[in-house]
Parts: sequence; structure tokens; C-alpha cells
Amino acid sequence: LIIFEDVHKWYTPEFEVLKGIDYTIHKGEVNVIIGPSGSGKSTFIRTINALEEYQKGKITVDGIVLDHNIKHINAIRNKIGMVFQQFNLFPHLSVLHNVTLSPIWTLKQSKEEAETNALELLERVGVKDQALKFPNQLSGGQQQRVAIARSLAMKPQIMLFDEPTSALDPEMIKEVLDVMIELADRNMTLLVVTHELGFAKAVADTVIFFDEGKIIETASPDVFFSNPEKDRTKQFLSQIL
Ligand code: ATP
Ligand code: MG
Repeated sequence: LIIFEDVHKWYTPEFEVLKGIDYTIHKGEVNVIIGPSGSGKSTFIRTINALEEYQKGKITVDGIVLDHNIKHINAIRNKIGMVFQQFNLFPHLSVLHNVTLSPIWTLKQSKEEAETNALELLERVGVKDQALKFPNQLSGGQQQRVAIARSLAMKPQIMLFDEPTSALDPEMIKEVLDVMIELADRNMTLLVVTHELGFAKAVADTVIFFDEGKIIETASPDVFFSNPEKDRTKQFLSQIL
């Protein structure tokens, strides 16, 4: 579904943030990225929907090459949902309105259709009873679940998550992870940057270890956590496990 071929990214030529990424994300798979701070994890996933440009190599999403052509960029963005550490809901819109806005404007859904879909999604993520509230009246965990519902309303083919639980109080982490697990169970393609190793162990098909702008190692969680190949991976795991 997504193919990275020798992708390089730099802000200044002296310091490459991505140093030649080769990776393929297959449909229906859950990929979890872990790695130290500053290693390029966020940059990697932000290049996929052109939130960051890349300078060399090639990214292809569902057969469309991600280049400077705005039509290609928009076509790719329509296939991708993204959820950030900060929930980024529109504060002046109700929960329901947050979820219906893009389907009405971009997918040209009728208000009724968009609201029916939105309520279904809000129910799926467990916050249907909050639909008429404003984001600041919700807990962090509830807001993040609304953010997930809002992304899903655009019917993406892949969901990107960048540390979706890092801004949450501990007791709210599970309710968000449970929603992501449900997505995985429904065979949604997921690419997740997270420190939640339990999530990685339980649902990842592949764990990707990033360091210094490179993919150091990829493996199934079983192998990755118990028998990693590279010394750098072993050293990192010894610090966090
Ligand atoms: P974290 O775990 O802290 O979120 P990360 O792995 O997501 O880290 P990135 O945010 O992708 O790391 O950053 C990778 C590198 O790129 C870092 O060295 C960072 O300082 C640098 N970088 C990120 N954004 C910019 C920018 N706008 N201008 C210059 N350098 C940047
Ligand atoms: Mg990051």
C-alpha cells in the first residue's frame, strides 16, 4: 500500500533526518515504530501525507507517486487518516460537528448522511453520549477518541498515529489503545509511533526500530522483543524494558 524507496529528507544538507528509508507497508498490517527521541519517527510518518517534503528517493501510496503535483498530494491525503499526540479538535465546534465537517465539505455527504455516520463512529469509539459537547468539556482520552472517529469518517485506507497516548493520563491510555486494537481487529492498515510496548507486542505484525534517521531493524514482535538481531536494538531495549 505504501512503498518507500531510498527516501532521504533533510532540512539542511549537513544533517539528514531520514537517511535512505526502504520500507513497504502492506494492506491490513499493523506496523509499530519505536526508537529514541529525535531519530526521525515523526518525520517518517509525516512524509507519507506530505506534511513534510522529502528531497530524494520515492514514496508511492496506493500506486500514486508522492511528488509535488498537488493532485497527487490531495489524492494521497484522501487515503490517509492521521492522529497526533495533541488531539487538534476544532475547539469552537461540537464533537458531532468536528466529525461531520470534512465528510460534508470534502466527501460531499449530505448533513443527514454525515451525522448518521458520525454517530455510528462515535458509538464505536465509545463517546456517542458526548456528541453535543464541545472538545474542552471532554477528557483527554475522550477527545483523542473523537479525533480517531473524525479521521475514520473520511474513510481512510490507512491510519497514521504519532504517539496518540503520550499526552494522556495513565488511566485514559487504555481506552484509546482499545480503539486502536479494534481497528487492527477489523484489518485497518495502521502505522503507529508509540512507547506502549504492550500494544506493540499484542497487535503489531511488524515492529520497526528507528535510530538516527534509519530503519535499523524490522521484525515480528516475538522476535523483536526476545531475540533482536542488531546490537543497537538490544542496547535500546535494555534501556526501556
Ligand atoms: P520524538 O520521539 O522526540 O518525537 P522523533 O523520532 O519523532 O522524536 P523527529 O521529530 O522526526 O524525531 O525529528 C528528527 C530530527 O529532525 C531531529 O533531530 C529534529 O531535531 C529534526 N527536526 C525536526 N523538525 C525539524 C525542523 N522543522 N527543522 C529542523 N530540524 C528538524
Ligand atoms: Mg516524534
